[in-house]
Amino acid sequence: MDIIEGPVTELSFSSGIMEYRKRKNGLCFIKKYSTDRQRKGDSSMEILRCEGVRKVYGLGGSQVTALDGIDLSIEKGEFVAVVGASGSGKSTLLHILGSVDRPTDGKVIVDGMDLSGLNQTQAAIFRRRKVGLVYQFYNLIPTLTVRKNILMPLALDKKKPSQEYFEKVVASLGIADRLEAMPNQLSGGQQQRVAIARSLIYRPALLLADEPTGNLDQKNTREVLDMLKLSHRNLGQTILIITHDENVALEAERILTLEDGRIIGDERRR
Ligand code: ADP
Ligand code: MG
Repeated sequence: MDIIEGPVTELSFSSGIMEYRKRKNGLCFIKKYSTDRQRKGDSSMEILRCEGVRKVYGLGGSQVTALDGIDLSIEKGEFVAVVGASGSGKSTLLHILGSVDRPTDGKVIVDGMDLSGLNQTQAAIFRRRKVGLVYQFYNLIPTLTVRKNILMPLALDKKKPSQEYFEKVVASLGIADRLEAMPNQLSGGQQQRVAIARSLIYRPALLLADEPTGNLDQKNTREVLDMLKLSHRNLGQTILIITHDENVALEAERILTLEDGRIIGDERRR
């Protein structure tokens, strides 16, 4: 969808769903209303939807199909683990959901926003405000205090945090007493918790974590997992976590299994 040109609002109807599109600050928001009462509850909690998402890397003879037709719906507040062999497409999927990369085909909607039409600037704004990305390496800025690292996404937008929310996040993550420390004064587990706090500061629609415990020992893995679970429980955070670790996956409510770019398993555990 082209989100720069065209009318300011659009309405469309299909299979009992009315779609209303509104363009604001160059971004396109989509709201869906059911015209069929029974379906109302179904669509209102959906925070993420993928339809027929494909990703092909490379050209000509050296093409790799990393994602091959992903259809997925995730509800607000779900804690989902993504598992699968190396090369099965897990990181590619996460990058597409976080608007770090674009699909070759298909549609991705996050919190009512269609990602397909975002230009580079809009994608950067989306990443900062709507998703929290956490990687194996913490990517903290070494010359800034813990407090300043956490507040960086807001500072880039010249925004002030809600003091109450900031305190809730740092308390939930057990780093309230380390705010004036520098990153290199913290353990690996603590640094990862600071990275998680930074990713939560915008109250993102999605927290996307790519093997966040991959670089940690057992004790620190436990700590980081407990903190993710707390943010899920206390802040209602929707989480997608890629992991190789079976014990990490077993903490999630839902396990998606990828193989050769397809979802071959989708198990709800509670
Ligand atoms: P996973 O995270 O499950 O290990 P990836 O999503 O990283 O898998 O990779 C899926 C497939 O896409 C692999 O075959 C990988 O080699 C390929 N791939 C990933 N990123 C690129 C890229 N930037 N260019 C070309 N091929 C890529
Ligand atoms: Mg990967």
